Amino acid sequence: MESILIKNGIILTGNPQQAVLYGHELLLENGKISKIAAKGEIKNFNGKEIDASGKVVMPGFINVHHHFYSTLVRGLGKAAPSKNFNEVLENLWWRLDKKLLMEDVYYSALISAIDAAKHGTTTVIDHHASPGAILGSLNEIAKTIKLTGIRANLCYEVTDRDGECKTLDGIKENVQWLEKVQAEKNEFLKGLFGMHAAFTLSDKTLESIMVEGEKLDCGYHIHVAEAASDEEFSHKHFGKSVVERLREFNLLNDKTIAAHCVHVDEEEMEILSFKKVAVAHNPQSNQNNAVGIADVVKLVGKGILVGLGTDAMTINMLEELRVGLWAQHLKHDPSQGFMEIANTLLRNNAVIANRYWDNQLGMLSEGKAADVVLIDYYPPTPLDANTWLGHVIFGISQSTVDTTICGGKILYQNKKLMLDIDEAAVAAKSRECAVKLWDRF
Ligand SMILES: [Zn+2]
Repeated sequence: MESILIKNGIILTGNPQQAVLYGHELLLENGKISKIAAKGEIKNFNGKEIDASGKVVMPGFINVHHHFYSTLVRGLGKAAPSKNFNEVLENLWWRLDKKLLMEDVYYSALISAIDAAKHGTTTVIDHHASPGAILGSLNEIAKTIKLTGIRANLCYEVTDRDGECKTLDGIKENVQWLEKVQAEKNEFLKGLFGMHAAFTLSDKTLESIMVEGEKLDCGYHIHVAEAASDEEFSHKHFGKSVVERLREFNLLNDKTIAAHCVHVDEEEMEILSFKKVAVAHNPQSNQNNAVGIADVVKLVGKGILVGLGTDAMTINMLEELRVGLWAQHLKHDPSQGFMEIANTLLRNNAVIANRYWDNQLGMLSEGKAADVVLIDYYPPTPLDANTWLGHVIFGISQSTVDTTICGGKILYQNKKLMLDIDEAAVAAKSRECAVKLWDRF
């Protein structure tokens, strides 16, 4: 792999000192950041040089909750209008995911992974569902991850809503995938045990997942209290909250991701905090589905690690970050939520990802993974350790990603895809798949 020297940019390290470096150069070798040095200190370099003049240099972005499989729904107008979240699931997602073929799984993931590279998102924690094509689906997604050069943590969402056979296949797919990535120790692909949500999982199924999960010593990835109905169902049928129920089956640990947590109560927050579960906040999705907005200020106040996902609303993490701040202002008042939201993407997502990637991601620091993004930006006000978060949310988020590097490999440069992929041809194939899928819908 060719060494890369990034020169002349403003380096937003994201390190514990929040250092913003001027007049420094970043040397990438063998997939890692091997050196950060003052200009001119790195001598006799004969690899590839990248001029980052007029740009900020940041760690690649991490998305902690996504659904690659949602890509082919874009423009689908056949779902009946939905008045609440359960109708959204019944009228759209649960009708759609059943119809996905393996080819649809592949192209929806490939399109989304290409988009990730173009938006500086180098790591995606995905949650997959395709009840008509379960076994092998995560391998199919993995092919697109290898092709695009990003990193991904994959799982299959187990649910009882399609009958026992599909439940068992879902469990099997997670087990196969986790065994594979654990054996391979792959630097780009990781796994979690996926579950849809507590309200579509019986106690018997949760027990089976617990038994398999304990053998694998893994974390879990599940939607929790996204809508109030999840909690209502749990109290009505099981006499306890969603989080209490998951705790009873030993599914909460420091590798578990609970997506949404819009309607968790104080006691559930205490449990999530105690169990060190990460919460994935998805503000655009919450607004789109009108389920409310997770109280990030309160969750963080309880000591919970809250990261930022997109729930497939976008792969652009900077867009999600901005919306997250407005939503928290609307929920509380404009004085609240700035640090809590800034930290979701710019600190906590790395903490979450590093639970799977052994402390390698989310920081421009010597020895860390060479996941780097260059974004066009001439700061109009002082940009330093004290101001960089404001620059990211209000200014850099409105700028264009120029270059994306993951594991020391250039995926996107000068706003052009650098991969061995014909994007137009992939999109054409995706449209063909979409037309057929919409016919089956
Ligand atoms: Zn989701």
